[in-house]
Amino acid sequence: MVDHSRLPPQAFVEQLQALGVRRAAFTHSPAHGLVCSHPKLEALGQSLLSNTRDYDRHQAIFLEVGAQTGALLGAFLHRTRRGQGIGGVRLWPYDSVAEFLSDGLRLSRGMGRKNALAGLWWGGGKGVIARPPGQQHTDPAYRAKLFHDYGRFITSLRGAYVTAEDVGTTPLDMAEIYQVTRFVVCAPESVGGSGNPSQSTARGVVSAMEGALDALGLGELRGKTIAMQGVGNVGSEMLALLLTRGVARVVAAEVSAEAVRLLTHQYPADRVRIKAVAPGDLEILAEPCDVLAPNALGGILNPDTIARLRTPLVCGAANNQLLDAGRDAALLAARSIAIVPDFLANRMGIVNCANEQYGTIKEDPAIERHYDRDWEGSVYRVTQAVLRRAASAGITSTEAANLLADELAEEPHPIFPERTAAIVQSLIRHGWANASADGPPAAAK
Ligand code: NAD
Repeated sequence: MVDHSRLPPQAFVEQLQALGVRRAAFTHSPAHGLVCSHPKLEALGQSLLSNTRDYDRHQAIFLEVGAQTGALLGAFLHRTRRGQGIGGVRLWPYDSVAEFLSDGLRLSRGMGRKNALAGLWWGGGKGVIARPPGQQHTDPAYRAKLFHDYGRFITSLRGAYVTAEDVGTTPLDMAEIYQVTRFVVCAPESVGGSGNPSQSTARGVVSAMEGALDALGLGELRGKTIAMQGVGNVGSEMLALLLTRGVARVVAAEVSAEAVRLLTHQYPADRVRIKAVAPGDLEILAEPCDVLAPNALGGILNPDTIARLRTPLVCGAANNQLLDAGRDAALLAARSIAIVPDFLANRMGIVNCANEQYGTIKEDPAIERHYDRDWEGSVYRVTQAVLRRAASAGITSTEAANLLADELAEEPHPIFPERTAAIVQSLIRHGWANASADGPPAAAK
């Protein structure tokens, strides 16, 4: 049996085409365990099972070869008791099918936890597209085809997964997807969507900082020094907000010289210092501060950088800040440095767009309450609950947040319990994986 997981995505697509396979599904049920739609792909199923780090009896994994582009498309569902799987679609140059699958598995579980902890009636879902080699993805005409392919794929899943923007995709791409499916959020405001979520995300991160400082007995933001890595969409909004909260100083590092120039002119030099840095420059992480906010990249907290931190608290927007979640959370705890888990601090991006199909309201109370201190489900209050649970149970804040999220993920949707499971069963029963995809036959490129 060929182990397709080691192949580059494009070579896997060619093998699928040679086998006459356009779609594949891997589903899990307590009665049958992992079921693969095609016996020829059993080895891929085995590789999922052996990926004990990322595979967690995911409800379903759907793969399709894009009808117009021949790109490998994926949609992943983790737990969906709270509702349909929702989460962004990532466009990334994966080296192998194994990496493609790992990312989808890991990110769909993460989205389920983020959604549950945010009290959203949505389950864990994530989309992944293997970016083809070369520069095609920068060509607008190619992108339109790619996201039409993705949208048709999403349509075929009948709402089991609702997609959104993520790394490598833009609101314009969501508008392309929106042309061929209704199952997309974070659409631009021009088509009735909620638009750019960065300001909401920034407000959420600042709420998390406030909740954490209070829970740790460190007071309020007023008078504090904040160090930030990255002053992009979210970071620049955070900068403005932090100044209105009365912080004494913000020290930031940013790789875009243009962003440094623009922002430096906007703020008083005695309160804001933004350094232009090379991408590999991590000095900002060693800046003495009251809160360190990673707002750029994932994986920046590792044994080397953690040893150099000079802060009591890490709280930022970037996803997956810990290079190795278990090991690095323990290293932070050993140095008595608290961290607000990223999926708690940056939840407002998805909160802002998840329910946009219910219509949008200026200063929507259903969204605003996430910034309150009165509502027990707010970012502020959940941050405090997580840090307190971690302290009382002697576990890391990541473990405490995961436990709470996993408990909440078991709550069934109040109106449509188990609907997504029923959609998945119906897709499989009616031969989703064997149907030829809509559109012309696959013609790569
Ligand atoms: P962005 O690309 O607009 O901003 C990131 C900034 O970091 C850029 O300005 C970039 O130049 C800078 N940067 C990159 N490498 C750097 C380095 N080594 N040192 C200093 N600066 C560096 O992205 P964003 O939308 O602001 O998102 C920031 C992070 O938050 C990302 O990890 C993203 O996945 C996460 N996030 C964003 C949202 C949202 O609403 N935008 C929601 C949830 C999570």
